[in-house]
Amino acid sequence: MMITDSELYIHIPFCVKKCLYCDFLSFSADEKVKEKYIEALRAELMFIGKERCSASLSSVFIGGGTPSVLPAELITRVMDSVKENFTLNPDAEVTIECNPGTADEEKLKAYFECGINRISFGLQSVHDEELKKLGRIHKFEDFLRSYEAAVKAGFTNINVDLMSDIPGQTADSWNKTLKTICELKPAPTHISAYSLIVEEGTPFAEMAEDGKLDIPDEDTDREMYHMTSLILSEYGYKRYEISNYSKEGYECRHNLGYWTGVTYYGAGLGAASYYEGCRFTNTSELPVYMDDPIDSIKLDEKLTSADKMSEFMILGLRLTKGVKTAEFAEKFGRKLPDV
Ligand code: SF4
Repeated sequence: MMITDSELYIHIPFCVKKCLYCDFLSFSADEKVKEKYIEALRAELMFIGKERCSASLSSVFIGGGTPSVLPAELITRVMDSVKENFTLNPDAEVTIECNPGTADEEKLKAYFECGINRISFGLQSVHDEELKKLGRIHKFEDFLRSYEAAVKAGFTNINVDLMSDIPGQTADSWNKTLKTICELKPAPTHISAYSLIVEEGTPFAEMAEDGKLDIPDEDTDREMYHMTSLILSEYGYKRYEISNYSKEGYECRHNLGYWTGVTYYGAGLGAASYYEGCRFTNTSELPVYMDDPIDSIKLDEKLTSADKMSEFMILGLRLTKGVKTAEFAEKFGRKLPDV
């Protein structure tokens, strides 16, 4: 699938509390800070929509953090800014990331009503003891309630994030996680199955250093890796990227855009953008961002044509369909084998 329009990513950096493996730009905050952040975000969205983005949007992704920790009304305000300042394609994919335990019926209904049409749930595991080991705030039952509420609100396009290599996880427990999610009624249209990465600076990294992180050994890791594609394909999910699987026609358009090098605009704390051949990044300092969100957008680098070619290859090779030599030649005016 070739996507030619622009994409918009909106970062909501708030979470109830930090998970033990997380190195994303996220933290807890009080309600006043959240309100103030949204006002800054709206100012930035107006600037990007009016001054930077002339193409229409094929996708919007509200990610984090945990966007669903915000009151529904704040998300509605963000979506109002998007609609006021950008042109959305009629079939645009509009996703919000939700964490179980923070997304209730009222919020999910409000999301659907303001034009969001895809939900991405960060579940990770169906086993409460594994969720606890990760430091997640929810139980599996919370997920089931949120999932049901999303379906009731009208969502027909739902992703579930799952994680392998969790401390204490076994091949059997991963098998059960995969099958339980595939057998949901209705089944999710998309499943992201990542394996845990122990990132520097996280509590998990410290525990690993002290020899206290009980992650599955290499053989179990390989067994789980092969099990993932096997089970998901049995249930009708097609793998289209290293860690991403979907039912026919439900590939995440937003991520496909990143992997195929489309123009994207990022709004919010620490958000990155790529347009006119340049990469931009917003400040990661909350007070600086809230003080002047527009001034916080900094030019990172202007990509050379060699950079663009190597990025095209590296990202393209994440995809099952790979890279087409004809597309490379059309995009860069040079033959791939020559380069
Ligand atoms: S919910 Fe997600 S973003 Fe928030 S702390 Fe946990 S892993 Fe990080």
